[in-house]
Amino acid sequence: MSATRAVVVGGGIGGLASGVALARAGWDVTVLERAPSLEPVGAGIAVAPNAVRALGALGLGDRLRDLSALQGEVGLRRPDGRWLVRENATAASERFGDQTLVLHRAQLVGMLADALPDGALRLGVDAAVVDPGDAGRPARVRVRTDVGPEGSGSRTPAHGRESGADSKESFDSDHSPAGGGTPGGASGSDEEIEAALVVAADGIDSPTRRRWWPDAPGPVSGGSTAWRLVAEVPPGEPVGPVGGETWGRGIVVGIVPLADGRVYSYASVTDAAGVPATFAELRERLADWHAPIPDLLASVDPDHVLCHELRQLPAPPASLVTGRVALVGDAAHAMLPNVGQGGCQALEDAVVLGVRVGGGANGAAVPELLRRWSGERRPRVVKVMRMSAQMAGMSRVVSPAATTARDLGARLAGPWSAALGAWALRGVLGWRPPEPGTVAAFDDDA
Ligand SMILES: Cc1cc2nc3c(=O)[nH]c(=O)nc-3n(C[C@H](O)[C@H](O)[C@H](O)COP(=O)(O)OP(=O)(O)OC[C@H]3O[C@@H](n4cnc5c(N)ncnc54)[C@H](O)[C@@H]3O)c2cc1C
Repeated sequence: MSATRAVVVGGGIGGLASGVALARAGWDVTVLERAPSLEPVGAGIAVAPNAVRALGALGLGDRLRDLSALQGEVGLRRPDGRWLVRENATAASERFGDQTLVLHRAQLVGMLADALPDGALRLGVDAAVVDPGDAGRPARVRVRTDVGPEGSGSRTPAHGRESGADSKESFDSDHSPAGGGTPGGASGSDEEIEAALVVAADGIDSPTRRRWWPDAPGPVSGGSTAWRLVAEVPPGEPVGPVGGETWGRGIVVGIVPLADGRVYSYASVTDAAGVPATFAELRERLADWHAPIPDLLASVDPDHVLCHELRQLPAPPASLVTGRVALVGDAAHAMLPNVGQGGCQALEDAVVLGVRVGGGANGAAVPELLRRWSGERRPRVVKVMRMSAQMAGMSRVVSPAATTARDLGARLAGPWSAALGAWALRGVLGWRPPEPGTVAAFDDDA
């Protein structure tokens, strides 16, 4: 029945999770992803306790048990290796009820894709919302299948799924376009899908946001550049259980042991510290930092290292919803990665959407249910975006005097700073998925 048709634009963490959440709620879901395969770029991702619970709500609890939690010692160090704040990861996690998991992105994406119904994922297709719909009219999504030499809706995607080559769907005969054709000039390899619900999870540069939220602020520079890599543990290095961040002048390096024995590492350099032009230059800059940083950086092929300028949205749009379209994940609230919550918030978005919009039994109610969902989600993501920006500000300190003051403050605070961090994060990491059938408080203006 077409009134239960949901289309998701984008097959990243937010889109895949939305597809899973909506399918579990009873929607007939199609996830449309532009890339020809779901091979995520090589890096790790921290899944904080709030997102661990979100994944549990998506039925992935059993899969999570096979993954490693952040363990051993974690904390904050200076480039010479001296600890500023040091804590046991298990003790830190226990404050939030669940542990933080660290996994390779491919694992997370694969897990979500595998949880979609067969045929729900279409790869190599470019999707555009051509009509957001309203209470009396379905939304319409134009799907283009000739997006590149590799792009094709009929390829066998990663994770062993066959893509479902849907043809045009009808929402409701009363609302079908005149003649049942493909309005908006769809032709050739274009097709149109009508949907009672559209989730736009098309990333920070979201074409959907740009078109349907023309007044919403676009992405801005976060003032730094990040390198990300996954490396083998250098021989003789006791890197296994020792993770955490090292803060220098405008440079932050993170080391995160993965379950399979490898190490996920990142380095971000603020513009004011002078961003290295190449990875080789970054290696030189960090050559005298504490072990195992120089060896880790030396052990990887520069071609396998990701380098991105960090960007963020200054704020989410005034509402995350227009008509039957909901903005999810980075499309709505791309934030700096300093609190490691961008993907986690996308997972929360998806789970809450599945619960609040329910099974789509009443197609006409979708715009109002989405509006309430926005009112519930927007204040929360604004808070997390602000926290990420504040944390980024501290890590961007460059001058020797300010760096010394920052480090001294962290060292003197000692265990208090860990407790303070835990207090500040409690509201974020302590989140729990809503129970189906419950009604949320929401901000009517969002
Ligand atoms: C350095 C760094 C470290 C990070 N670390 C963490 C961390 O530890 N923990 C954490 O939770 N988060 C982290 N994040 C943030 C996290 O990576 C993002 O928030 C998350 O990946 C966003 O997922 P998304 O699905 O919203 O967007 P995306 O991953 O950008 O996915 C959008 C998808 O939409 C597709 N698409 C776009 N347009 C179209 C179209 N027209 N048709 C079809 N498909 C389309 C794109 O191809 C893409 O696959 C980090 C980010 C950075 C930069």
